[in-house]
Amino acid sequence: MSTPAPARSEVHELGAAFVRREVVPHLDAWEEAGEVPRALHRTAAEQGLLGLGFPESVGGQGGTLLDTVDLQEGMLSAGASSGLLAALLTSGIALPHLVAAGSPDLVDAFVRPTLAGELIGSLAITEPGGGSDVARLRTTARLETDDQGRPAYVVHGGKTFITSGARADFVTTAVRTGGPGHAGISLLVVEAGTPGFTVDRSLRKMGWHCSDTAELGYAGVRVPATHLVGREGDGFALIAGAFVSERVALAVHAYGIAARSLALAAAYCRERETFGRPLVANQVVRHQLVEMHRQVEVARSYTREVARRHDAGENVVAEACLAKQTACEAATFVCDRAVQLHGGAGYLHGAEVERHYRDARILPIGGGATEVLTDLAAKLLGYAS
Ligand SMILES: Cc1cc2nc3c(=O)[nH]c(=O)nc-3n(C[C@H](O)[C@H](O)[C@H](O)COP(=O)(O)OP(=O)(O)OC[C@H]3O[C@@H](n4cnc5c(N)ncnc54)[C@H](O)[C@@H]3O)c2cc1C
Repeated sequence: MSTPAPARSEVHELGAAFVRREVVPHLDAWEEAGEVPRALHRTAAEQGLLGLGFPESVGGQGGTLLDTVDLQEGMLSAGASSGLLAALLTSGIALPHLVAAGSPDLVDAFVRPTLAGELIGSLAITEPGGGSDVARLRTTARLETDDQGRPAYVVHGGKTFITSGARADFVTTAVRTGGPGHAGISLLVVEAGTPGFTVDRSLRKMGWHCSDTAELGYAGVRVPATHLVGREGDGFALIAGAFVSERVALAVHAYGIAARSLALAAAYCRERETFGRPLVANQVVRHQLVEMHRQVEVARSYTREVARRHDAGENVVAEACLAKQTACEAATFVCDRAVQLHGGAGYLHGAEVERHYRDARILPIGGGATEVLTDLAAKLLGYAS
């Protein structure tokens, strides 16, 4: 019996070998600790994981979106969790705007050291008042001049649910520098330790336990004007420019944990006996495994195709929304069935399928809730009035 065919590239094996060697022996402890160690970022950088998909001109290793898909598929196939990827690869959401529009000084100060595993960055868009409607964000930044004549933004507001926010050295923060709506949004790089910037790490979650998640406070935080990414008002366009890579990555999380849960369930069903024969001898069990296989294959094939088309220069914003939804629905179904097929053993804390089941629940919410992405797709595909 075969599991769905993985992409057998060198990058896939790079990710899988890293996880077998550096992650699997420690993952349970990191889940308990609520974070992954900083040293893991440096190890990942040294072994060629962090810079993949970023241009060499900013300290990356080059490569395409499809290469990052291969890497993450490989990591999940070897037993990484979705939370581990979220925590270790937060650079994938914190840096793209800096790469696209940051000054050379910002690239040197934040992008290169992050890709070298020396710094950790976060992306802060969501606020306690709402995450889906980015255009209404309320955190403000007003340009002032200090007593030595240096321009600085003074930031007031708050952000919540920020991945790696507790460990971050800097936070790419969406702020309102102008009027209402999309056009008034800008991105500022805020460094941890700046007076007035606070980090509340007390958020506890259903899943993604090894990924720290923080609430951030900005009470008159002075940020050098040179920490503006691009120009004032560019923020929403920069955020939108990263939509495809973020949504494809979360689709990979979803079908990746589904594929892993299927593999674990299939192995269990071959060994576990009930009523004097292996579980897999029951037609209803076999057919369930095939249905899980089908959903993983469809999600994987479509997501990879969307990544390939993105790499070829096509606009696939709508398709990335559909890929994320397809993969999240596969994960919801497959991870649930994997627990069911494990019986009581699947319900125990520490069972790998139990972790994937919990981790799957964030995926249709984070990075754009399914309903919001479907509505965006409706507009882009011409189904809106
Ligand atoms: C573990 C975790 C990590 C996260 N990491 C980050 C991060 O690093 N950076 C960051 O900025 N944010 C992060 N988020 C926030 C995440 O992106 C938001 O939770 C998400 O965008 C939804 O926003 P919200 O929670 O405010 O829900 P709301 O916007 O209040 O929406 C609630 C629900 O209503 C529904 N809904 C919303 N709008 C519509 C609509 N127009 N039509 C129909 N239904 C709708 C959806 O089901 C949605 O889930 C993270 C969240 C979690 C839980």
